[in-house]
Amino acid sequence: KTAEQPAIPFDNSYVRLPANFHTRVEPTPVAEPRLIKLNHALCAELGLDAAALEASGAAIFSGNVVPTGAEPVAMGYAGHQFGQFVPQLGDGRAILLGEVVDRNGLRRDIQLKGAGQTPYSRRGDGRAALGPVLREYIVSEAMHALGLPTTRALAAVSTGQPVYRESVLPGAVFTRVAASHVRVGTFQFLAARADVEGLQRLVDYVIDRHYPEIRGSDNPAVALLSAVIERQGYLIARWLHVGFIHGVMNTDNMTISGETIDFGPCALMDAYDPATVFSSIDRGGRYAYANQPGIGQWNLTRLAETLLPLIDPDEDKAIEIAQQTLATYATIFQNHWLDGMRRKIGLANAEDGDLDLVQALLTAMHQGGADYTLAFRRLAAAAEDNAADEALFQLFSNSYGVSQWLGSWRERLERDPQSPQQRAKAMRAVNPAFIPRNHRVERALAAATDGDFSLFEALLEVLSRPYDDQPQFAAYMEPPAPGEEVLQTFCGT
Ligand code: AMP
Ligand code: MG
Ligand code: MG
Repeated sequence: KTAEQPAIPFDNSYVRLPANFHTRVEPTPVAEPRLIKLNHALCAELGLDAAALEASGAAIFSGNVVPTGAEPVAMGYAGHQFGQFVPQLGDGRAILLGEVVDRNGLRRDIQLKGAGQTPYSRRGDGRAALGPVLREYIVSEAMHALGLPTTRALAAVSTGQPVYRESVLPGAVFTRVAASHVRVGTFQFLAARADVEGLQRLVDYVIDRHYPEIRGSDNPAVALLSAVIERQGYLIARWLHVGFIHGVMNTDNMTISGETIDFGPCALMDAYDPATVFSSIDRGGRYAYANQPGIGQWNLTRLAETLLPLIDPDEDKAIEIAQQTLATYATIFQNHWLDGMRRKIGLANAEDGDLDLVQALLTAMHQGGADYTLAFRRLAAAAEDNAADEALFQLFSNSYGVSQWLGSWRERLERDPQSPQQRAKAMRAVNPAFIPRNHRVERALAAATDGDFSLFEALLEVLSRPYDDQPQFAAYMEPPAPGEEVLQTFCGT
C-alpha cells in the first residue's frame, strides 16, 4: 500500500492450510497511531530493520498499513473456558499478519492483537485497552528474560481511540511474536467438526514446524502428544519455579509449541502461598498457583481426545494408548520441577531426600508468609556466608521453621560437590532478584493510562536483567509494603 515501508520477509505457511482453519480479514485502521515501544532486540532476532520501523512502525503495528507480503487472517479455534466447552472461539481481536523465518531458522508468527473485529468477534469490539497491552508487553518480556519459553512483545502502539470497558480507556494494539499460535483449542476446533482430514493436516503441520525430530514416527499423533506433554510439563514446572500464575489456563490458551501465551490476568506471586489466585474472574480458584500442573494434565487430556481417530481406528485401543501416553505427564512434570527446585536450593547432585528438603522449605515459607522470590535470592547469600542468615529470617513472620531448615540444608550441602562460592553464583543464576511485581506493574499501567510511560520504561529496563544485582534499582526487588498489595488482576480486555 505504501512505497516506503521496510521489507518484512514474510513467508506464510498457515494460510496455505485448508480454508476452514482461518478467515482472511483486514485490520481496521485507527485514528491516530503512535508507536509506544518497539523491541529492537527482537527486531534483530527476526531480521527486521528497527531503525526503519521506528519511522513506519506506528502505521504497520496499528494495522493501518498492511505491509507487503502479509496475508492477514484470523485463526479458528475452540476451547474449554473454565471447564466449559465452546466449539467456536477463534481470533476475535487478533489478526495474524504472517510469518518470518528468524536468524536461527525458526519460523515465527507476527500477530496484531486489538486490530479490530474479525468473523470470530461475537459481541467483542476487536480492540484492546492500553493497560492490558502494556501488561502483556512487560510480563512476556520479563518471562523471556527469566529464561522461560514464551511469546514475545514486538511492539505496542496507541490508537488515539477510546475503548469502552467498565470505564473509557485509551486503546492500543499489541504485536505478538510466537513460535506459532496453534493451541490445544485449534485441535478442538477441528475435532468438534469431525474434520479428521483437517486434524491430520494439523498434526503434520505442527510436527514440521515444532517437532521436526519426530517426523516419520510410526504413530505421528502419539509422538506429537508425547512431545507436547514434554514441553508443557517443562513449561509449567518453570512457571512454578518463578512463582508465575497464568490465570486463564483455558485450552485455547495452551500452545502446542510449549510457549506461555495469553498474558491476561497473570501475575507473579509475592508471599509464598500455593492457593494464590489473582484473576478477578477465577472465583473458584481453578487456576490457582498450585493447581496449574493438574490443569496441564486436564488440558493435555483434551488434546489427546481430539487425536483419538488418528491414534488408532479402534477407539478402545486409541483410548488405551492415549491414557498410557498421558500417564507419563505426572513424572515428566515432577522431574522438571524437582530438578529446578534442587538448583534453586543450590544442589548440583541428586539424593532421594531432596524432595522432602524442598517441601520443608516451602512449608516454612508458607507458614512464615515469606516472599518467594526474595527468600531464594537471600538463600543464595546464605550459601556462602552464615552471616546472611539474618536477612533471610527477616522475610519470615516467625523464623523458627526456616532456621531449623537451614540446619538440615547445610548438612545436605556437605554432600554436594560445589564450593560455597560456586554454589552461591549458580543459585543467583536461577533465583531472580527482579520479577514483575504486580504492584509495580499496576502502577506502571496506571501512569501510562495517564500518559506517563516512564514507569513502564523503567520496569522494562530492570526486568531485562532479572538475575543481576542492580543496586540502582534496589527498590524494585521489594515486595509490596502493607497497603500496596494488588491482589486482583482484571482480565486482559
Ligand atoms: P481470552 O480470554 O483472551 O483467551 O479470549 C477468549 C476469546 O474471546 C477469544 O476468542 C478472543 O478472541 C475473544 N475476545 C476477547 N476479547 C475480545 C474483544 N475485545 N473483541 C473480540 N473478541 C474478544
Ligand atoms: Mg486467549
Ligand atoms: Mg486474553
